[in-house]
Amino acid sequence: MIKEFTPEPLTDFSKEENRKAFEAALELVKSQLGKEYPLIINGEKIFTEKKIVSYNPAKKDEVIGVVSKANQELAEKAIQEAAKKFEEWKRFPAEGRARLLFKAAAILRRRKHEFSATMVYEAGKSWAEADADTAEAIDFMEYYGREMVRLAGPQKVTPLDGETNDLVYIPLGVGIIIPPWNFPLAILVGMTTGAVVSGNTVILKPASATPVIAAKFAELLEEAGIPAGVVNYLPGSGGEVGDYLVEHPLTRFISFTGSREIGLRITEKAAKISPGQKWIKRVVAEMGGKDAILVDHDADLNDAANAIVASAYGFQGQKCSACSRAIVHKDVYDEVLNLVTEKAKALSIGDPVNVKNNFGPVIDKAAFDSINRYIEIGKKEGRLVLGGNSDDSVGYFIEPTIIADVDSKAVIGQEEIFGPVLAVIKAEDFEDGVRIFNDTEYGLTGSLFARSRETIEKGREELHCGNLYFNRKSTGAIVGAHPFGGFNMSGTDSKTGGQDYLLLFMQLKSISEKL
Ligand code: GLU
Repeated sequence: MIKEFTPEPLTDFSKEENRKAFEAALELVKSQLGKEYPLIINGEKIFTEKKIVSYNPAKKDEVIGVVSKANQELAEKAIQEAAKKFEEWKRFPAEGRARLLFKAAAILRRRKHEFSATMVYEAGKSWAEADADTAEAIDFMEYYGREMVRLAGPQKVTPLDGETNDLVYIPLGVGIIIPPWNFPLAILVGMTTGAVVSGNTVILKPASATPVIAAKFAELLEEAGIPAGVVNYLPGSGGEVGDYLVEHPLTRFISFTGSREIGLRITEKAAKISPGQKWIKRVVAEMGGKDAILVDHDADLNDAANAIVASAYGFQGQKCSACSRAIVHKDVYDEVLNLVTEKAKALSIGDPVNVKNNFGPVIDKAAFDSINRYIEIGKKEGRLVLGGNSDDSVGYFIEPTIIADVDSKAVIGQEEIFGPVLAVIKAEDFEDGVRIFNDTEYGLTGSLFARSRETIEKGREELHCGNLYFNRKSTGAIVGAHPFGGFNMSGTDSKTGGQDYLLLFMQLKSISEKL
């Protein structure tokens, strides 16, 4: 008997015992820094000569770990092994696959702080952000395990006399999993285990900025008893190994989360049929956002400002759900701007290894440079109200930045910055606010702060995004409660953590027998 899914509780760091436990985990992870990790193909651990070195974004010279780096030859070996293994794994009982996820979730729960501490070092996450990331990883496994059990059971069909009719979900084949660095555990775990519990075998190509947490998860799956070859851990460059895997005729589907640019590149490449290919590849792509929080004149302004700050600056704005546009009714514009500025000033910038620092570095030099370029553009497009400074002498730190009086069509009103930069835009009235809210080619998350029932009902209808929230922040979707995924250029609306997700990795066999 499987008990009902309930989301994993977050750790209360105001309790001393929890702080002590997390500090111990940070110490443990510190003692492992610099370790070498092999790639894993069909259970075989392979150390290559070429490496990917993972650095701490808060202390840019500190090596987190060194992982082996695949080339095309190893990618070919991985895909051949995964294809062979698929023939076995697809016959493995669905309930058994689900139980594997429950076991992995139990181990992760026991080693929760160790995994979170790894993300503090490797991704620059604050304690709370890292803890939420691990909790979500546990949730994905618990949720998808239950979903697979449900989908493996009898499915409803219209009964006809003289026939038995059945619907059976069957897996697709070999999948390429390309997760992002911003939820380096949660999203990686969700993408990988969702595909695997559905009966597919995968090649997991971790993000090059966060390969160590990925290697630790690959080890955890082994500890949980996953058969060799079901998940093949294959770090490598996108240009060399990523493209090769995407174009390969044995690849059945690609599950990607990351930038719009790479998502579209994958979509294009996957659409081309390679010699010997027997199917149309499926692409599941979750890409960017230019998410907004709209504040109407009758809203609770303090709540709205808290939500804007949490959504714009949580994990330094490096979430596709981040609020990068605050659209504010002109009657309350100055007041909201002041409140947001005051609250953003109160963030504590620094190395997130220290619990008091809730605002850490951005992921790497490329991100640091790109965000700074947007800040320079923004200074010309609007009025710099807060921040704008950065320092990469020790780590990649950029101040929480607010640029006010931005036009919706401005570059910083349109392009995803993926950093701690908030554009504040004035709306003439609610209708104008809705127009600005929808004036984007993305459509991932968004919030409306309003009191009037009429306004809220209009908002439900008119605001076009995959995850729409009212009177709360635009980040922090909970598995099972807020299935997550966006419209338009935000991706294929895959709704992770929802009832439709596993269907993306399966096909439906309709079986009818005449009696
Ligand atoms: N699911 C996360 C949230 O609701 C965002 C995921 C992402 O940034 O890719 O905040």
